[in-house]
Amino acid sequence: MAFVDYGTSASKDNSGMSSTTAYARQAQTPAPPLLAGWHNGFAALGPAFYTELAPTPLPDAHWVGVSNDVAALLGLPPGWQQQDDALQSFTGNALPAGSRPLASVYSGHQFGVWAGQLGDGRAILLGETDTGQEVQLKGCGRTPYSRMGDGRAVLRSSIREFLCSEAMAALGIPTTRALCITGSPQPVQREELETAAVVTRVAPSFIRFGHFEHFAARGQHAELRQLADYVIERYYAECRADANPYAALLRAVSERTARLMAQWQAVGFCHGVMNTDNMSILGLTIDYGPFQFLDGFDPGHICNHSDTQGRYAFDRQPGVAYWNLLCLARALLPLIADVGQAQAALDSFEPVFIDAFMQRLRAKLGLREARPGDEALVDGLQRLLSAGGVDYPIFWRRLSHAVAANQFAPVRDLFADRPGFDAWLLQYQELLALDGQALAADLMLKTNPCYVLRNHLGEEAIRAAKLGDFSKIQTLQDLLAHPFDERPGCEAYADFPPDWASHISISCSS
Ligand code: AMP
Ligand code: MG
Repeated sequence: MAFVDYGTSASKDNSGMSSTTAYARQAQTPAPPLLAGWHNGFAALGPAFYTELAPTPLPDAHWVGVSNDVAALLGLPPGWQQQDDALQSFTGNALPAGSRPLASVYSGHQFGVWAGQLGDGRAILLGETDTGQEVQLKGCGRTPYSRMGDGRAVLRSSIREFLCSEAMAALGIPTTRALCITGSPQPVQREELETAAVVTRVAPSFIRFGHFEHFAARGQHAELRQLADYVIERYYAECRADANPYAALLRAVSERTARLMAQWQAVGFCHGVMNTDNMSILGLTIDYGPFQFLDGFDPGHICNHSDTQGRYAFDRQPGVAYWNLLCLARALLPLIADVGQAQAALDSFEPVFIDAFMQRLRAKLGLREARPGDEALVDGLQRLLSAGGVDYPIFWRRLSHAVAANQFAPVRDLFADRPGFDAWLLQYQELLALDGQALAADLMLKTNPCYVLRNHLGEEAIRAAKLGDFSKIQTLQDLLAHPFDERPGCEAYADFPPDWASHISISCSS
């Protein structure tokens, strides 16, 4: 039998039979299991790292959204969504045979303060399949790490996480993925009454900086070493041969994190809650909460309504990432055993960030090589964009077209400071001429997205979904899956945000 059924009402069909029984009776030959080849992976670390438990079922589950790209990544068979158990399984109402669900324990610093033990309070890892991908259900009920929480996620925030995971992947930014969202009419109390949803997240690993901090803070150095060895063995094999593999791990994580920050800053992505428990050890974007893609360029933009001090403001992200890496370094110190080596590993962050950021910005400008003057060009541009609060995605897309057509008036129109822009453009055109404008335009149109998941676009899809219409999620998902391809008839998705967008308030509440 492909699934273990919990015998809940949600997993019964109209005949009153459990779906598993019905499935087994109907099948001429047993259908292939939805996901096969489960193996131990994280679970093999042992009980100090998690609590084994099953998800809590939700009533009347229905599909809200699905990513076929992630289905392919997981090797799901054609028609998987129609398989009897798929919906129940990804809602947490039935378990894929061979999976071994668990909630992991971690700790962390939240808003710069040690928060002690946290852990998967509403996420349950089903396990890892032979594709090397772990599958996790987010919002599937309370765990021993839920603290005061209800273990649930609401439809609103689940749609945001689903869409953004896939949008980031399509932009080439490292991220956890999202296979699907399922919804349920079960009420969930937030600021107002909402309904429950489950996002199936997929990543090679969901290990966070906070997992290391947890064991370090408790002086559990054997477990700390076990965790570090596991991460090196599975994900950072190149560190194994180093004279100090743990210092090498810290350096590799610092560098991946630096490159991730460069991508966030270049694309204008604000995460909103960069607590150490929301930092992936693999350098993935993880835990989408109050995130935002910038509309008008404002370096100090705070996207999280709960972040009253602006700790996670847009331009503070690289600095916060470094601060979080310091916490990771402190946690790894018992293994690295040498403060100098730990510091040297962290020292790679800044040069890697600057180099990666400049690489991204040069590509956005269509410049194929590093040349003297390009840093000043980027600085000058950031000052101009910031002074005018110029719409960030529209600026870059218009600039790409302007370079293609050699017609800069539509870009100039975006700036109040026209003389300032003209002076900058002269500088830019000097550098452009060295590479050739046609080549530059080609690179720019593939680097500067036409479609990004602006807050108001997500909000429109959420409002429709709350009324039972999921088509806007699908439309957005399709556009964001090919963010550089302009689609006729979809101009509104690439336009300026409406006035009401500035009043959207996104907090940690999810
Ligand atoms: P976040 O910053 O949203 O990623 O979550 C911080 C911590 O709170 C993590 O340990 C989460 O698992 C936990 N958490 C967030 N929301 C809930 C909830 N509704 N129920 C239980 N735990 C939650
Ligand atoms: Mg989190």
